[in-house]
Amino acid sequence: MRASQYFISTLKEAPSDAEVVSQKLMLRAGFIRKVAAGIYSYLPIGLRVIRKVEDIVREEMNRAGALELTMPLVQPAELWNETGRWEHMGAEMLRFKDRHERDFALQPTSEEVVTDIARQELKSYRQLPKNFYQIQTKFRDERRPRFGVMRGREFTMKDAYSFDRDAAAAGRSYDAMYAAYCRIFDRLGLTYRAVAADTGAIGGDRSHEFQVIADTGEDAIVYCPGSAYAANIELAEALPLLATRDAPAKALEKTPTPGRTTCAEVAKLLDVPLETTVKSLVLATDDVDDAGKPTGVTVWLLLVRGDHELNEVKAGKIPGLKAGFRFATETEITERFGCKAGYLGPVGVNKAVKIVADRTVANMADFICGANEADFHLTGTNWGRDLPEPDLVADLRNVVEGDPSPDGMGRLAIQRGIEVGHVFYLGTKYSQSMNATFLDEDGKPKHFEMGCYGIGVTRILGAAIEQNHDARGIIWPDAIAPFRVVVCPVGWGKSEAVRNEATKLYETLRADGIDVILDDRDERPGVMFADWELIGVPHRVVIGGRGLKEGMAEYQGRRDAEAAKIPLAELAAFVG
Ligand code: ATP
Ligand code: MG
Ligand code: MG
Ligand code: MG
Repeated sequence: MRASQYFISTLKEAPSDAEVVSQKLMLRAGFIRKVAAGIYSYLPIGLRVIRKVEDIVREEMNRAGALELTMPLVQPAELWNETGRWEHMGAEMLRFKDRHERDFALQPTSEEVVTDIARQELKSYRQLPKNFYQIQTKFRDERRPRFGVMRGREFTMKDAYSFDRDAAAAGRSYDAMYAAYCRIFDRLGLTYRAVAADTGAIGGDRSHEFQVIADTGEDAIVYCPGSAYAANIELAEALPLLATRDAPAKALEKTPTPGRTTCAEVAKLLDVPLETTVKSLVLATDDVDDAGKPTGVTVWLLLVRGDHELNEVKAGKIPGLKAGFRFATETEITERFGCKAGYLGPVGVNKAVKIVADRTVANMADFICGANEADFHLTGTNWGRDLPEPDLVADLRNVVEGDPSPDGMGRLAIQRGIEVGHVFYLGTKYSQSMNATFLDEDGKPKHFEMGCYGIGVTRILGAAIEQNHDARGIIWPDAIAPFRVVVCPVGWGKSEAVRNEATKLYETLRADGIDVILDDRDERPGVMFADWELIGVPHRVVIGGRGLKEGMAEYQGRRDAEAAKIPLAELAAFVG
């Protein structure tokens, strides 16, 4: 590629609404342009990076035996109604009507469509296992799109879905995807950690997130440097750890606030008997109005019967909590329920808080209701856009860092991460609700055992930059740099020798299959270098008149403090 024929559009300053460094640098380097909140155009140089990420993802998915297809962006309500998710997805799913007044949505994910394909096409156990994937546009009407491509509304996701005969085979599909994800993130050149993750409203016990380690990440991870233990802090399993220390103590409000929700109402809402045992209760703060004020609280109860076997998950919204609520301290939970429970300090907007307790709905519902807004704020929890984000990690550090880990192999540590991938064992949740079956060897119909596996392709760009940048700009890992090498001739317009040598080197590198750009714009060295440092090309070769006389060029890696002189004849081998 010749820079004079390419499109380079760098900016001195980032637009004032850019919040994090990756967003600022992607705008300044001319990778993206904002069209609306969370909606971007990718300029040619940005698209090059996306394509490189996609190529790596595609190669490793294919290597793992997954099969690429594409499913429609526009999906009919009928399919989403079958699983009940037309209702459940809430405002995050963008819906509209066609000219015949039929309901449609833009795909936020594609379990329904892929399960529909499976029930029509996969008739026999002989056709299993199958893993279908697509790399395609998703739309989620995020309440708070931010951080550029990291929390966009329109974004590219690789989503894969596995279909198996039984749970053991589904476990093997899960393991294969987990391994493929490790290869993908290794090849992308990112520092990451696979962490045990919350299974949310789906339940089940196998879910891992792949988190790129960065201080600006929205997620917090607890891990043990001495062992393999690592978990998203949202995970219930991580909570008992937090319960070992005292959170700020506040007395429970004794008198009910007006509009207080009763246990009976919660039980009715969730359609369970009052005496149902609850393993875990989740309060989510994502129901807010435009001003960021809560309009209600979504409650998820993980219902457990018998010996801690996950039975079912129920979700419902408690509108009666309009006045606000707060989360209990460990002391309060222990006092009230006489059980060990977890308290998960402050969390960001849109995050859920869990209280773990093997209690009945009657107790739990009674417990969460009736506190006031002032208490809520005092716990440090942030629910409004106008409030500063609490420093979750700093807060958690006080609570857990240095405590002994679960397995006794060392002391716990906390990190921030950016969720770039997620693998999830689904079981038969979707195959049951959509009645998707195959004929097994015994001639009987069985529901598919499923898994789903996502990678945030466009989010990876932001995550890579958060992890790799300096004051001058981006430092791309080689594998996903828009160009691996830039050849910068000093004096392109003036010196024929410079032009010839630079062109020769460029042609040689190209012939060797190296992704190289020749900066033939005849810019001053300062301008040229600033552009390529901002854009983040990892290897730079400078060809100038003085060096040429000695048969030398200058090489500088993007992280190097100084340039090194390299004989012209050795350059191709050196940067190749
Ligand atoms: P988050 O917790 O950040 O909202 P998620 O858990 O909702 O993510 P998944 O449903 O697991 O996301 O989707 C798979 C992947 O898609 C995520 O791991 C993430 O990398 C990416 N992703 C999800 N939401 C967005 C978004 N709004 N913008 C960009 N990428 C996203
Ligand atoms: Mg999300
Ligand atoms: Mg998540
Ligand atoms: Mg996820």
